[in-house]
Amino acid sequence: MSLKGKTAVITGSNSGIGLGVAWEMARAGADVVLNSFTDRAEDHELAAQIAAQTGVSARYIQADMSKGAACRALIAAAGRCDILVNNAGIQHVAAIEAFPTETWDAIIAINLSSAFHTTAAALPMMRQAGWGRVINIASAHGLTASPYKAAYVAAKHGVVGLTKTTALETAEEPITANAICPGYVLTPLVEAQIPDTMKEYDMSREDVIRNVMLTRQPSKEFATVEQLGGTAVFLASEAAAQITGTTLSVDGGWTAL
Ligand code: NAD
Repeated sequence: MSLKGKTAVITGSNSGIGLGVAWEMARAGADVVLNSFTDRAEDHELAAQIAAQTGVSARYIQADMSKGAACRALIAAAGRCDILVNNAGIQHVAAIEAFPTETWDAIIAINLSSAFHTTAAALPMMRQAGWGRVINIASAHGLTASPYKAAYVAAKHGVVGLTKTTALETAEEPITANAICPGYVLTPLVEAQIPDTMKEYDMSREDVIRNVMLTRQPSKEFATVEQLGGTAVFLASEAAAQITGTTLSVDGGWTAL
C-alpha cells in the first residue's frame, strides 16, 4: 500500500512510538514532519536519516505541544497535513492528593489539549485536500484505569472522547479519526528501566519483564514501535476508510481481561 503524495505530521516524534510511526509512514511512501519541543542538531538528523533511507521528504519542526498556539503553528508550518498523528505525551505517577497541580496541567495540555489544537488546525487542510486521517495515540489507559496515574488516565480517556467527536464531525467526508490504544511498548525509555528494576527486585531480565512490567499484558510480550507504526499505516490506508470513531488496542490482550 502506498501513501505516496500524502504528508504525515507526527507530534512528539524524536523518540519512541512517534519515531516508529514516522519511519513506517515514510516506508509506506508518505512525506513526514517530525516534531518535539527541542531544537537540536540530532532532531533534524533524524529527519535527514528517514529521507535518506526511504526517499521521502522529511522535516523536523520544533514546537512545544504544551502550548495551544505552538500546536496550531506546527500544522501551519507543515503547510500540508493529510495524516495527523497525535502522539506527544508525558507521564507522572503520584496519588491524587499528592499530585502536583502544575504536572496535572502539563499532562492535560500535552496529552490531550494538543490533539484538540492540532486537529482544529489540520481539519481545514484535510477538507481542502479532500482526504484525511486523524490518528490519536491514546493508551490502554484510555479504556481502563490504574491507581496513581490520575492525569494520564483522565487525559487518555479524553483523547478517546475527542477521537469519537472528531469522527462524527467528519463522518460524511473522506476523513477518519481513530485512536490506537497501546499496552506496554518497548521504547528506549522502557528498556532503560529494566536494569534498575532487575537490581531493585534481584530478578532476571525475563522475570522483570514478565512479573513486574507485563503483569497486566496477557501476551507477556511488549508491543514494538514497528507494530504501532504498522497499525497507524493501516488506519491511513484505504482498507480502513470505513473505520472511524473507534479504538484499536495493541495491548497483548490487556483490555480483554
Ligand atoms: P517517549 O517519551 O519516547 O515519547 C514521547 C514523545 O513526546 C517524545 O518525542 C517527546 O520529546 C515528546 N514530547 C514530550 N513533551 C513534549 C512537548 N511539550 N512538546 C512536543 N513533544 C513533546 O514515549 P513513548 O512511549 O514513545 O510515548 C509516545 C506516546 O505513546 C505517548 O502519548 C504515550 O502516552 C503513548 N503510550 C506509550 C506506551 C508505552 O508503553 N511506551 C503505552 C501506551 C501509550
